[in-house]
Amino acid sequence: MKQAQAVFELLQERYAGEKEYLQAVKEVFESLGPLLEQRPHFKTENLLLRIAEPDRVISFKVCWQNDAGEWEVNRGYRIQANNALGPYKGGLRFHPNVTPSVLKFLAFEQTFKNALTGLPLGGAKGGADFNPKGRSEAEIRRFCQAWMLEAYKYLGHFRDIPAGDIGVGEREIGFLFGTYKKLSDSFEGMLTGKGVTWGGSQLRSEATGYGLVYFATYMLEDAGYSLKNKRCIVTGAGKVSIYAAEKLLQEEAKVIALSDSSGWIHYPDGITEEDLDQLKEVKLVKGESLNALVDKERNILFHKEPETLWELQAQCVFPCATQNEIDRKIAQQLAKQGILLIAEGANMPLTSEAQEVILKSKVLYAPGKASNAGGGGCFRVRNEPKPSRCILV
Ligand code: NAP
Repeated sequence: MKQAQAVFELLQERYAGEKEYLQAVKEVFESLGPLLEQRPHFKTENLLLRIAEPDRVISFKVCWQNDAGEWEVNRGYRIQANNALGPYKGGLRFHPNVTPSVLKFLAFEQTFKNALTGLPLGGAKGGADFNPKGRSEAEIRRFCQAWMLEAYKYLGHFRDIPAGDIGVGEREIGFLFGTYKKLSDSFEGMLTGKGVTWGGSQLRSEATGYGLVYFATYMLEDAGYSLKNKRCIVTGAGKVSIYAAEKLLQEEAKVIALSDSSGWIHYPDGITEEDLDQLKEVKLVKGESLNALVDKERNILFHKEPETLWELQAQCVFPCATQNEIDRKIAQQLAKQGILLIAEGANMPLTSEAQEVILKSKVLYAPGKASNAGGGGCFRVRNEPKPSRCILV
């Protein structure tokens, strides 16, 4: 562990202030302890530093014109972490809190996640500090075109393959792909998450959320439980959360709450198929707040205060919103309540302190690097006993 500590201290010095990146590296280094003792070449070949330092940090200016004709300037990024196993691959995030630190943590984690699927893929992540909320479709299109105008030279189906993430769904992938196609004069599978009628894979939208629930199912089965009738909290109400909720419903679990950046919604008796259709319409189509789903007759109520979500009595928790959403206090509350399982749909949704609490408790813990890898192409095909692997485009 001395070696890991020395490398971590060097990175702390180099990247002081990059808190998310340092957190992700520290967690991996700590978990590698026993392996480092068995494999001395990790030290002689300096493998820890070589894998923690991304291959390339590309940052660029994204200039685009809003509907009022004014020019706006954002910061765009592509972090190519590691391509030892195959072309770089990982999503794009458009969110105001995007920084090099956030993308470096995501790219670092993506390398391990893709490796775990057994597929020949490296790790990367990218995006911009652009906030798509409140923007017109034309503004989003112009932004995507401007982002790709700069980034396309670093991408390609044998080189680097982006996908969606927070703030980037099928529509944005369409704008990005269309621009890449024009610039490269080729129709190649260099972006995943495309629509199925124009080169995308069946089930890509569902893959991450479904994969998460399959993972949880196996984990519970192994411990002698099932999801049937289990009360579940799913955080977030985006692409991962909604398809996780859909699969939980199919597995006869009860999804009693979901959240978004404005608050959370409580379904005391669990969501129904009709609720799920409304959820898709409100969140994935219209992009409105969960508040729009209130149904007082059925006691489906919206709550603004995020912390009250954790007062619900649940058995399984699926954090699917964003990083560090569960802190030590929430983790202690969940462990004390005796929940059965936490399965991560989001990347690094637990702070290091929360993870420590959960690892010391009896809660079954599915880390995101394994449990949310479905989008890369590892999911269960109906009637097949074990997860199947394929590359989703
Ligand atoms: P998304 O479709 O943009 O959904 C994100 C959801 O989380 C939205 O409902 C958003 O609320 C909510 N949210 C964001 N920040 C929040 C905060 N601080 N507090 C409460 N809610 C918050 O994104 P996504 O693709 O589902 O990704 C969600 C997570 O899964 C991310 O950590 C991502 O890296 C990870 N992931 C995604 C994939 C994939 O295939 N998409 C694969 C692996 C891992 P609003 O609706 O109000 O904006």
